[in-house]
Amino acid sequence: SFGSNNEKEELHRDPPYDSIVRFLTKLVRPLEGKVAIVTGGASGIGEDAVKTFVENGAFVVIADINDELGHHLATSIGLDKVSYHHCDVRDEKQVEQTVSFTLEKYGTLDIVFSNAGIAGPLSSILEFDLNEFDNTIAVNIRGAAATIKHAARVMVDRKIRGSIICTASVAGSVAGSAGHDYVTSKHGLVGLVRSTCGELGAYGIRVNSVSPYLVATPLVCRALKMEVSEVEANANDCGNLKGVTLKAKHIAEAALFLASDESAYISGHNLVVDGGFSVIDTSFPSIIKN
Ligand code: NAD
Repeated sequence: SFGSNNEKEELHRDPPYDSIVRFLTKLVRPLEGKVAIVTGGASGIGEDAVKTFVENGAFVVIADINDELGHHLATSIGLDKVSYHHCDVRDEKQVEQTVSFTLEKYGTLDIVFSNAGIAGPLSSILEFDLNEFDNTIAVNIRGAAATIKHAARVMVDRKIRGSIICTASVAGSVAGSAGHDYVTSKHGLVGLVRSTCGELGAYGIRVNSVSPYLVATPLVCRALKMEVSEVEANANDCGNLKGVTLKAKHIAEAALFLASDESAYISGHNLVVDGGFSVIDTSFPSIIKN
């Protein structure tokens, strides 16, 4: 603590003091003053990302189709920090409008978490419904492509060295963990992230993905027709890393890392948050077990 008010004012005017304050603020709140859009921000992983980004200093626009949840989340966090904007990522116009809304409201756009996604059906290829397939691709890949496009346009135009993060999945690198639609869409999404990171690197814009293992969000509970506790018990059972239950918060923290300057030279990376699940093949014979 400092002494008199005069002393405080002196210190405020002192450039080294300002830079110490800036350094400490960045350490404690790495997204201080940044502006972010989170698609699919009304529920699950997106909801935790919205809370985490705000806790770390950002202003956030929640872009979602679930207006009730989105408005409720924005109000519960505080409308001075968070706004809700209806956005179906399948509709490019709505994505463009969400970006414009963000610029009007907060004046800039530093971070985009393209996280909206659906599970798609768990059907056999023999009974494959190609209309359902189109819809899964429309949300999980086309939606991300529209989001990256309109975010990048603004960032390039305004010379913002922003960070774009997509939620892929372990299903983006291993099959067997979800339906054909979903596995295909998440493999494609990892490709989209790599491809766009190649072009946008020239502008100092980073593009990465986070790839979660099973988290008991509404999406998963609906797809598996299970309660949260049942999903988590199954996830822990099949998971490689014991003693930790994967939560949406863990994914939000990975997204925070990719959004912040802590990851300043990381681009084109797929940050897998799966406790080793996708690099271990447990079906191998037990003779090699120690
Ligand atoms: P969730 O259902 O809780 O959240 C998804 C959000 O996306 C919802 O708020 C929903 O309204 C929104 N959304 C759906 N369609 C949309 C559209 N067309 N436009 C805009 N918003 C839309 O599910 P979640 O598990 O938090 O999913 C978030 C992301 O994480 C998805 O991309 C999902 O594929 C991915 N993911 C989830 C898991 C998991 O185990 N939960 C694992 C790997 C990847």
